[in-house]
Amino acid sequence: MLFSQIPRTSLLTEPTLLEKAAHFGDTIGHSSLWIKREDVMGLGMGGNKVRSLEFWLGEALEKSCDIVLAAGLPPSNLCRLTAAACCRLNLDCEIIHNAAPSNTNPRRGDSRFLYDLMGVRQIYCGPVDEQARKAFVEERAQELKEQGRNPYILGDPVVGALGYVAAAQELLFQAEQKHIDLRHVFISASAGPTEIGLLFGLRLMGGPDLHVHLVSVEYPAHTFWPIAQEIWQGLCQKLHVTPPLSLQYNTHFYEEYLGPGYAKHSPETWLALRLLARTEGIFLDTTYNAKVFAGLTDLCQKGRLPTDEAVVIFHTGGVPTLLMREE
Ligand SMILES: *Cc1c(COP(=O)(O)O)cnc(C)c1O
Repeated sequence: MLFSQIPRTSLLTEPTLLEKAAHFGDTIGHSSLWIKREDVMGLGMGGNKVRSLEFWLGEALEKSCDIVLAAGLPPSNLCRLTAAACCRLNLDCEIIHNAAPSNTNPRRGDSRFLYDLMGVRQIYCGPVDEQARKAFVEERAQELKEQGRNPYILGDPVVGALGYVAAAQELLFQAEQKHIDLRHVFISASAGPTEIGLLFGLRLMGGPDLHVHLVSVEYPAHTFWPIAQEIWQGLCQKLHVTPPLSLQYNTHFYEEYLGPGYAKHSPETWLALRLLARTEGIFLDTTYNAKVFAGLTDLCQKGRLPTDEAVVIFHTGGVPTLLMREE
């Protein structure tokens, strides 16, 4: 078994839904669109990070860690889901935000509201960059060690990617059960763990005709590929297996849907979000998934994607951020 030597804790009890989006498909002129609903999960309003947390927190438990540290901007999905998972596993955690502290009471529509409900501690280290935030987290971990605690710093990209190797296995099995001749998979490309884990799993267990479409929401190609290569190598080592197909074989990377940049929306983002809401009653976040749906729509309309070959689009979650006031 692929994961038999690897620590993992169970946070997802069922496979996520694989739903046909017929009305959306008709509207953009595609006859076989399916959505992998990673936004619908039992824990903490769901999202891709839950799958990674199975392996991150599996490792934390194996190492007998008694406090988990996770860092991100205030609306971070990673932070929200880490807090939720720690509540479920009865693990202590601290969430560190690189933002100015907020003095007001948490209210609905603030990113702090859900942490307040969960009773999880948030620390604000000021509006610094990721490098400085990382240093702050390491200092905090050191401080905790001096107090006799055993902290786990969350976020190793290779460990996180394992969650999406597992998702690839789940998807291939589901497609077979539903008799879908899967030819295209779409997913956002950002820091790497999710999309490279998925790609690795699809290349390991799927057929050679499968095209994987990565829609960048953060980096240009020349920044993305070296990160991707490193995670891919890390997975080969961790799982003691090398996929028969290479990282770039039938993989398509799009920079042109990034718009004004990471987490910045554009008219196309909102068009895609409205279109999916109006045709399927499904909501998207503006940072990741609306850009993927905008890209898919554009490729269909330009005739760059065959309109009768089965497509699965990963909806990675993030919808709670849609309801947050911009801070
Ligand atoms: C973190 C996140 C992603 C991107 O995952 P990476 O592994 O960083 O590429 C995509 N969608 C949502 C909703 C996320 O929270």
